[in-house]
Amino acid sequence: MEIYSKSFSAIDDLKNYIRLSDATFFHGNQTSTVVPYDRLKEYGQEQGWDSMTLGNLGQLPEECTLDKDNNLVIRGPVTWKQAREYCRSKGRNTMTSPTEELAAILSGVATSCTGERCFGYGTLREQLIECIYLDNQGNEKKLSSHKDLKDHEFFQTEESQVILKDYQDSYLQYIGFKNAPFPRLEKETDLMTGTEGQLGVVIEGIFKTAKLENVTYIFLALPKWEEDASIHLDVFDKVQGFRDKVYSCELVDENSWSYLSDDLVPRKGKDIVFLEIENIHFEEVYEKILSQFPQLSEDDIFEVPESKCRQLRMEIPRAIFEVNSKMGVTKKGTDVQVLPRDFAGLLEFYKKMARGDVAYNLFGHFGDAHLHFNFMPNPNETDSCQEKLESLYQWVYEVKGSPFAEHGIGLIKQKFIQHFYTRAQYEMFSYLKKVMDPNNQFFPQGFMMMREKV
Ligand SMILES: Cc1cc2nc3c(=O)[nH]c(=O)nc-3n(C[C@H](O)[C@H](O)[C@H](O)COP(=O)(O)OP(=O)(O)OC[C@H]3O[C@@H](n4cnc5c(N)ncnc54)[C@H](O)[C@@H]3O)c2cc1C
Repeated sequence: MEIYSKSFSAIDDLKNYIRLSDATFFHGNQTSTVVPYDRLKEYGQEQGWDSMTLGNLGQLPEECTLDKDNNLVIRGPVTWKQAREYCRSKGRNTMTSPTEELAAILSGVATSCTGERCFGYGTLREQLIECIYLDNQGNEKKLSSHKDLKDHEFFQTEESQVILKDYQDSYLQYIGFKNAPFPRLEKETDLMTGTEGQLGVVIEGIFKTAKLENVTYIFLALPKWEEDASIHLDVFDKVQGFRDKVYSCELVDENSWSYLSDDLVPRKGKDIVFLEIENIHFEEVYEKILSQFPQLSEDDIFEVPESKCRQLRMEIPRAIFEVNSKMGVTKKGTDVQVLPRDFAGLLEFYKKMARGDVAYNLFGHFGDAHLHFNFMPNPNETDSCQEKLESLYQWVYEVKGSPFAEHGIGLIKQKFIQHFYTRAQYEMFSYLKKVMDPNNQFFPQGFMMMREKV
């Protein structure tokens, strides 16, 4: 198994390369947790691949500007960190804030990125106004979020309209989720959103931004969720009606603190749920949510500066990734979102998974009923973790939840996703690959090439 790499420093080079039709996995800043970048060769060997070619988009020229309507125009591998700093210097803010700030924004289109502020602002998909991608001829094509996919040139035959209608009907059960088990495919821009680079290369995106508001981060120190999750669930219920005033609502559990240096741990021995609250609404949120917990002392509710909050939130998943890497195991973590009615059930399921000797931790997008449970196994423990994950995904399937609401499918989640696909998905994926990528040159190992088991 050979890994070949190609880097592009000019768009014209990229266009010319695409015209060769060489099968390539184009990538941005390689922060995806569902692509095992650190052990691709071994992974490919296990899959029986002869080779894989990586196409690095990280050297392309960058552009990051605000247009006259304060929309953010991005070309090249601009990161979330760069864009946020730029927007702030102009009195604006990005509406998505993924935990990993070094990811590229255009990759975020491909992965249908979400993040902490998704609680208040929705997903990147909802903020994408327009994008330009390179098709399989290396030509630039523009897609608009104001145009429905059913009116796009790809869907003008009777056969394709039926495929689209069946697919969209099958999506309806997932409407309330950030990301379903399969891409939304409702608007033109959805051809590039969550399709993980399997239909073309995104080279430009125009995104909505928000006015820069002053915010306060309030931390609630709670009992460990495994012992008593009643206050957690009460916060969850109360915060739902405040999505226009609270931008994010996150959980970091007590087990996660062991991956941080002591100076970053806000309260030892406790879980933390934190809220990012817009200052002008602080009093109302305090009165209607924060003051409603007589079980919590004044010490259990405290403010943390934004920079510290951001740092601790980012350090934990990074440290977990490193621990797994050193241990030589592929990440055994979840990305499950359920409907609010099933959130208590999800915590119960995680409680069952936590039983046993394997270390674990839980954190993530609490307000959206979307948490990352991570096993921290040694190599001998990975099989038992895998079994527990399989039973979790069966449960998620039964309650009609979304198994991978944020990080996508990539390579390592493919084995779990197949159960969630029906004929409608397989037909759509084959159709899109046929019309948009007839040589299967864009991420040929991706989920769209999975075929229905007969
Ligand atoms: C610590 C940590 C925290 C994270 N937190 C979040 C989070 O809060 N929210 C979230 O959504 N994700 C999160 N992620 C996952 C990851 O950061 C995102 O999936 C991100 O969008 C990947 O960006 P990247 O530039 O690293 O892409 P890569 O890893 O390089 O590529 C990811 C995928 O996108 C495709 N792709 C990349 N660029 C393009 C392009 N220009 N055109 C077409 N296809 C392309 C690739 O083919 C690949 O399938 C986190 C990851 C880590 C390690």
